[in-house]
Amino acid sequence: MTVHVDQRVGTAVRAEQLTRTYGSGTQAVTALAGVDAEFARGTFTAVMGPSGSGKSTLLQCAAGLDRPSSGRVWIGDLEISRMGETKRTELRRNRIGFIFQAFNLIGALTVEENIVLPLRLAGTAPDRAWLAHVVERIGMTERLRHRPAQLSGGQQQRVAIARALATRPEVIFCDEPTGALDSRTAAEVLALLRAVVDEHGQTVVMVTHDPVAASYADRVMVLADGRIVHDTPQPGPARVAEQLAALDSRGAAR
Ligand code: ADP
Ligand code: MG
Repeated sequence: MTVHVDQRVGTAVRAEQLTRTYGSGTQAVTALAGVDAEFARGTFTAVMGPSGSGKSTLLQCAAGLDRPSSGRVWIGDLEISRMGETKRTELRRNRIGFIFQAFNLIGALTVEENIVLPLRLAGTAPDRAWLAHVVERIGMTERLRHRPAQLSGGQQQRVAIARALATRPEVIFCDEPTGALDSRTAAEVLALLRAVVDEHGQTVVMVTHDPVAASYADRVMVLADGRIVHDTPQPGPARVAEQLAALDSRGAAR
C-alpha cells in the first residue's frame, strides 16, 4: 500500500548529537563533533565550510551510507541509526536520493537504465507517469538510449538527478554536485534542484563550496571542525563568501 504524505509538512531529516571519529588513540580524527540539525520538508539547504570540516561525513551519516560513532538520525519518523544493515539499505533505496560530484552513472547502462536502476534494486514497479515527467524535466527524452560517455558533464549530472528522483525519495543529498561542472552547466543543475524543491516539495541538502551555488538554497549551514558555526536563512552570495573567508583566515592563523 502506498501512503501519501504531504511532502511539505514536517521534518525530512533530523540529526541529534552526531559524532563521527575515524581511527583511534593519537591517530583519531574527529570528523563530526556533535551536530544537531533538522531539515524541514520542502526546503533546500546548502552545507558549506572549509575542506575537512565534516561536510561529506555529515551527509554520509545522515543518508545512512556511514554509521555515526554516536548520536541519532531520523529520516521522516524512522530512526536509521538504530537499523541493521539490511533495513538501512532498504530505507536508503526507497526514501533517499544521493548525488555525487563524479555523477557515478554506470557506463554500460543506457540513460534510461541508469535512471530506473534504483527502482530495479528496490524491486519497485516504476511509476511510468512520474518517470516520464522526470525525464522531460531534465531534457533527456530524446537521449534515453544513449550511454553516459555520449553525454556532457552537465547532462550526466542531470541524469544522476533523475536517478535520485526515480523513487520519489523523502530527501536528496548532494555532495558538491556542481564541483565538476562549468558555471553555465552548474546553473542548469542548480535550477533543476531548486525546481525539485519548489514543484514537488522534495527536500534537498547540498554540500557546496561555491557561494553562488549556495544562493539557490533557502538556508546556509556552515561547518568548521565538525560543528555547525553558522545556520541562517540564505544570506546572499556576498555574505556567504565573507563567512567562508573569515573561517579560512581563522584556519590559516592556527
Ligand atoms: P569535508 O567534506 O568537509 O571536506 P570530510 O567529512 O570529508 O570533510 O572529512 C572530515 C574529516 O574527517 C577530515 O579531517 C578527513 O580527513 C577525515 N576523514 C574523512 N573520511 C575519513 C576516513 N575514511 N578515514 C579517516 N579520516 C577520514
Ligand atoms: Mg567533502
